[in-house]
Formats: sequence, C-alpha cells, structure tokens
Amino acid sequence: MKKNASGINNSKQRIENKNNDLDLYLKALNSAYSGIIITDNLQYDNPIIYCNKAFETISGYAHDEIIGHNCRFLQAQDRSQAERKIIKEAIERGEECKIEIRNYRKDGTLFWNELFISPVKNEEGQVTHFIGVQNDISDRKKAEHDLREEKSHVELKIQQRTKELQDKESFLSSIIETVRESLLVLDANYIVLSANRHFLNSFKVTTEETVGKLLFDLGNQQWDISSLKEMLTQILPTNNPVIDYEVDHIFPHIGRKVMLLNAYRVEFEGQYKDRILIAIEDITEKKEQDRRKDDFLSIASHELKTPLTTIKGLFQILQRLSAENTDPKYVSTLDKITAYIDRLNLLISKLLDTSKIQSGNLELHMEPFEIDKTIQDAVESMRLAAPDSDIHLTGNTGSIVEGDELQIIQVLNNLLSNAIKYSPESKKVEVSIHKVANFVKISVRDYGMGISYQDRQKIFERFFRVSHIQKKFPGLGIGLYVSHEIILHHKGTLWVESEPGEGSTFNFTLPILINK
Ligand code: ADP
Repeated sequence: MKKNASGINNSKQRIENKNNDLDLYLKALNSAYSGIIITDNLQYDNPIIYCNKAFETISGYAHDEIIGHNCRFLQAQDRSQAERKIIKEAIERGEECKIEIRNYRKDGTLFWNELFISPVKNEEGQVTHFIGVQNDISDRKKAEHDLREEKSHVELKIQQRTKELQDKESFLSSIIETVRESLLVLDANYIVLSANRHFLNSFKVTTEETVGKLLFDLGNQQWDISSLKEMLTQILPTNNPVIDYEVDHIFPHIGRKVMLLNAYRVEFEGQYKDRILIAIEDITEKKEQDRRKDDFLSIASHELKTPLTTIKGLFQILQRLSAENTDPKYVSTLDKITAYIDRLNLLISKLLDTSKIQSGNLELHMEPFEIDKTIQDAVESMRLAAPDSDIHLTGNTGSIVEGDELQIIQVLNNLLSNAIKYSPESKKVEVSIHKVANFVKISVRDYGMGISYQDRQKIFERFFRVSHIQKKFPGLGIGLYVSHEIILHHKGTLWVESEPGEGSTFNFTLPILINK
C-alpha cells in the first residue's frame, strides 16, 4: 500500500515535470524570431493546430484566426505560383522542403515567406504532423530585386556605351582608312598590330605580310632601316613624341622614298600601354619638286648674273666715254641707272646665296675684324643710302670677332633696310652694340608695324613674307632667311622680339675672338 502511494506520487511528479518542460518549450517557441506552425496531417485538409507569436506578427492574423485553417490562406488570390506545387508534392511524399513564396498579411500587403516544412512521423512511419518554419525575407528579396534592377540597368548602360564605342571605333577606323597618310600601330616590341590601307598600297604589301610581323622584317627586311631603328629604339623610349623625322631610304621593290615620320607612344586609359603609333608621310614627290625649284633658282640667278655683270662693265665704259657731258639731267640719269644695276645685282646675289645655303655651299671667308668699326661703317652707308631715315648708333665693345665681314655687313644691311621699309610712319631706327658674356650682341630696333606671334614663328623661313604686306612693300622673303643662316654659320644666333603695332627688335650675337 505504501508502495502504491509512492508510485502514484512518482507518476504525478513525472506529469508535473513534463508540464513544466512543455511550458518551457512553448515559451521558447514564442520567443523565436521565426514564425512556427504545426499542422495535423491526420485531420481533413491538414489544419493548423499550433502557431507561435512570431507567426502572428509575420502574418498579421491573431492566434484564433489562424488555428483550424489550412496554410493556403496566406496565399490570398495569388494562387498560381510554381512553389505551391513543390509544397504539395513534399506533403504528399511526407518529405521536407524549403521554398520562397509570396504570401499576404491580413491587411493584404505582400511579404516574401521563406518557408521550411518538415514532417513528423509516428512509430509506424506515418506522417502525423508537419512543422512549418517561416521567415519574412521581404527586405532581402527587395534588396535582391533592387540589385537585379541595378544590374540590368548597368548592363543596359554598358550595352549602350559599348555601342557608342563601337560606333566611334568604326568612325575612327573609317577615317584611318581614308587618310592619305600611312599609319602603323606597333606593340612595345615593334611588332605591327595594325596597318591602314594607305600603308599597304604605298608599300605594296598585304595585311597578312604585315600584321603580326616585326616592323624591321617587313617586305624581306626592306624596312630594316637604320635611322628608323635608331628613332624607335633610342629616341622614342624617352617618351617624347618624334615629330617630322626624315627618313630617306631606297626600298628594293618600290625604289627611293623620302618619308616624314611622326611617332607617339599611345596609352589609352592605361589599357594599351606602350603601343606606338607611327604616321608616315611620303614626301618623295615634294622633295623632288623642291629640288627642281632649287636647281631652277640656282641656274636662273647664275644666268641673270652673267649678263648683268657685262651690262655693268659696258655701262662703266659708257660713263667714261661721255665724261665730258655734264648736263645734270644726263648725269643724274646715269647715277640712277647705276643704282638700279646695283640693286638688281644685290637681289640676284641674295638669290644666289639662298641656293648656296640650300645646297650647303655657302662660302665664308673667315678673318678677324673689329666689329664696332664694321657696324659703324654699315650704319653710315645706310644713312647715305636712305637719307630720310633717322638711324642712331650706341655702344662700343672693343672686340674682335672672327667671321666673313662682308656677310655680317649684309646681315646688318638686311635688318636696317627692313627696319626702314616696315616702318612707314616712323623714321627712327636704333642700333646698339654691346658685350654679353663672350659674345657681342647687335640689336636693330624700329618703331614700325611689328610682327604677330604666328608670323614671328615663320619669318626666318625661306620665301616667307607676312601676307597682308605683300603688295604694299616689295621683297622676295629671303633677307631674313639668308641672315639667319649666315649668323648660324658664325656660331651666333639671330632672333626677333616684336608685337604688332609696337615695332620690332632684331638681335644677333657673334662669339668674341679677342677682347681688347
Ligand atoms: P622681305 O623683306 O624681302 O619680304 P625678309 O626675309 O627680309 O624678306 O623678311 C621677311 C618678312 O618678315 C617680311 O616680308 C616682313 O613681313 C617681315 N619683316 C621683316 N622685318 C620686319 C620689320 N622690321 N618689321 C616688320 N616686319 C618685318
């Protein structure tokens, strides 16, 4: 009896303990973040028999509105989702499954439910219940959706940009193909990456013979040109572009070509590092024309000079024969003829000088001379030749320079006559001579029309004349060219400082031989 009483007590105790445990489990389930439901699979339509607090929160329904219902009430009218089939099959097979499905809260708003269902089986293996665990993953879904949107937006942009680039590229390549200049792109090892049509046509090669080949191997090594190699291997690595590099080469198949090469290292947003673009201008024809012009100039000036020298000689005889005729009109006419013959002589001499300079045959008779005296004499002669001018000379260096005195006089004459010619409104010309370090510096300043920046870059070129003065002032555009070359041959420099409307100062230097 005693034993019986204690047995009842024990089982009471066990029941109480179990109740306590159940209480604890329910509390744990209610504090879970995920929504949890239990359905009874043995009852008709698999009704929900338990739901925790989180499920009420997620769905918006109250406990009593949930119990007894089949889970499908969460799908509202959205009944055509493919995921439904997956749950249905899992329940039929008594298996677990995990899906993401669109569900609707009590207020009708959509939420994405990450649903995990798992069967509970009895000892016979029969499915008695299903446990469903749900998480509201709307935020994650939204983020994924936004990401997808963003991605497709970016992809669209990339497509547009790619199209733009393709359009640009085909636009550029159509330009590259139509320019009348040969273009080559090389990699850092001088392998040809591309060659335009003009290159292929000019050098009589095909794309197959060119692209992928070493530049120097092209056309049976006919591009193995030492000056080109020097340019590419020595000059270009300094990272400065090579501008107008002249290459004169005899190609075995196509003959002699004179080419102007321009080469640049190309870097496109760090992508095409160390590519080399070479533009080749064929100036063979132009060179040939220039040569013919030079030859003509040289022959023409020689041909003119010979009869002129004879005319001058004969004229001097005439002057002597008619010395007794003192009629002032007669005398002044003879003087005028002499002056014109001298002017013509000077012009022809200048032309001869240019062709001598061109052919590298300018002869200089170098001797020491007193530069101060030479400048004084030249200024004095110019005062006599142009009595209207107002030429001032300042400075004295006491220096001796070595050079061709006649040529230096010619330089000063050119500068002085220009100063007078291009200053129709102002007669004043200032000449100064100074010592600067081991040079003498001679400056000729006028207050005339001045020279613009663009023209200043060109006035020392052969035959250049500032366009708007062409008709107003006679000239051949060679005085400054010849002067510049003469001073260069004396190891000095000739340069100009000028502004339009403010006059010009031409300066030149000559190295001093002896300081007195
Ligand atoms: P030319 O005087 O025969 O034209 P130059 O070679 O002496 O040839 O001069 C070249 C050009 O430079 C001239 O045509 C003129 O436009 C410009 N020039 C030279 N000297 C002066 C100057 N002192 N003032 C303004 N322009 C000048």
